Amino acid sequence: MDVLRPALYFALQSLFRHVKVLRHGEPFAAVKTADTFYAQHGFTLDISAWGETYVVCCPFCNDTRNRLYVCHAWGLPESFGRQSWRFVKCFNDDCLKEPGNRRSLAHMVFEQAMFSYGKSDVVLQASPGAPKRTSGPVSYPGVCYPLSQLTGPHPARQYVISRGHDPDELWRLYGVAWCMDACSQALALASGRLIIPLRAASGDMVSWQARYMGETDWKLTPKYYNCPDAPRSGLLYALDRASSAPVLVVVEGVTDVWRYGDGAVAICGKEVSCEQATLLIKHARDRPIAILLDPEAWEESGKAFSRLALAGAKFLFRIKLRAGPDPGSLPRPLLRAIVKQALLANYPEFA
Ligand SMILES: [Zn+2]
Repeated sequence: MDVLRPALYFALQSLFRHVKVLRHGEPFAAVKTADTFYAQHGFTLDISAWGETYVVCCPFCNDTRNRLYVCHAWGLPESFGRQSWRFVKCFNDDCLKEPGNRRSLAHMVFEQAMFSYGKSDVVLQASPGAPKRTSGPVSYPGVCYPLSQLTGPHPARQYVISRGHDPDELWRLYGVAWCMDACSQALALASGRLIIPLRAASGDMVSWQARYMGETDWKLTPKYYNCPDAPRSGLLYALDRASSAPVLVVVEGVTDVWRYGDGAVAICGKEVSCEQATLLIKHARDRPIAILLDPEAWEESGKAFSRLALAGAKFLFRIKLRAGPDPGSLPRPLLRAIVKQALLANYPEFA
């Protein structure tokens, strides 16, 4: 069964045999509390709805009518720690008010059952399985929620909306999710961040970037945390969404791609690597390639042009934005109009 918290679900199943799932697939709803979201050791959220809930017979009161309710978020670390008894309730007798009962339930579920299932308490959506550290497909770094499934004022939705993006579109087109809880200590930095999958042209997720939401001191906190040991130099972000666009638009970063939409690919920096150049030309086939870097990167744009020209790009041109906002902060219609106009000026036969 495809549940949100497989480790917990299977642990309960091995202990109680029958587990009923309520509100299947619905993540719990939470809102940010005050300014503690990025407290040093994690984050604090107020829970307003449990979402997916596992229901079993309470072992403490001879229950036969499935009166023990367990929220799928029970036992997650940080503010969702084992001590959080907000997520488990016996509706027969409130058995878990009793500290002894709490200790034995936690012991049964987390020490015995979950351990035998395998300690890694992973997985969401899209690509199940533990993350791999070698090349090849990887999965999301832990318990993550699609941006489109988070409700109302969730900080991840608020963050992308404040940057002028549509959270539902980011999930639908680019698989952007929010990581509630990384699946291992090694990936702990991914917790609380936006997860941005990097896909090969085939559509397989081969790496991800975890972006910090908001502004902070970038000397102390990395803005982007990358999937450890995944290949990066040969990747082009969103290449899988550029197969039918009339012109390939080379931009610097993922947010520039989100702004422009289908047809833009990001080099994740200001430099086109040899591998990227080869990949780009292969996928452009005979379509024109436009280079659209940030306005202050005109020199780098020239280098990118030379590299692509040397690698054999047939139809190639550069676009210079007036000094000021980078492509990622212009409105989409304006950005697409600028590219169209430049295409007309350079290769009218493609426009
Ligand atoms: Zn009970």
